[in-house]
Amino acid sequence: MSDDASVLRSVRRGYRPPMRTPAAAAAIVALALACPALAGLPLAGKTVTIDPGHNGDNYLHTAEIDRLVNAGTLWKACDTTGTETDSGYTEAAYNFDVALRLARILRAEGARVVLTRTTNTGWGPCITERAAIGNRAHSNAAISIHADGGPPDGRGFDVIYAPPIAHLTADTAAASKRLAVDVRNAFAAGTGEPYATYVGTDALDVRSDLGGLNLSKVPKVLIETGNMRNATDAVRLESAAYRQREAEALARGIAAFLG
Ligand code: ZN
Repeated sequence: MSDDASVLRSVRRGYRPPMRTPAAAAAIVALALACPALAGLPLAGKTVTIDPGHNGDNYLHTAEIDRLVNAGTLWKACDTTGTETDSGYTEAAYNFDVALRLARILRAEGARVVLTRTTNTGWGPCITERAAIGNRAHSNAAISIHADGGPPDGRGFDVIYAPPIAHLTADTAAASKRLAVDVRNAFAAGTGEPYATYVGTDALDVRSDLGGLNLSKVPKVLIETGNMRNATDAVRLESAAYRQREAEALARGIAAFLG
């Protein structure tokens, strides 16, 4: 790729080579995909772990997901089934769809993206493994994507992060809080979704009972993007166009943190 690389460095210095053929333009695009750092993509060199909550077949594997695991501050189920809208759109499917959309955006911006599950037709992984995947990837940021099963008359989103916990999140809690604020701000601006009316404060919530956050050695947050049990939120969450807006907003929040 050295010929293309030298062209690209020239482009970055301000020189505009004559690119009259589609093949030449395609070569530059291919180079950008292969070498994002060289191409100057904004998230080049960054690793983001995306954790779509639950899994589509968890309900078929209750023995496996009910197994208790050490969540750092307590023992709790390996995983859970999640919620769904009144029309039966499952949270597991929703989380996975938003995660794939977010992954596509972040990769296009140069990030290395790791997903904690790559289908919606299995069970798990356990919350312990969801955290471990982000740790092993040496992620610069990690985000769990969920939608809530809250009271039907409550709506809105909130972003959860863990407090400093000795031997667990002590070193990452401050960064996780910054990530939470960046994601909160971008999500509100990009989607217009209100702050949750029934949980948290200004769409932020500090919790020490979530294993996926407690066991993370990298900055990590969990977003409840809306309330699936609320009719107004459900209409939005069921819209593919809205989910794309959510993914774009999440990408902007993550990029703000990484920037
Ligand atoms: Zn959930």
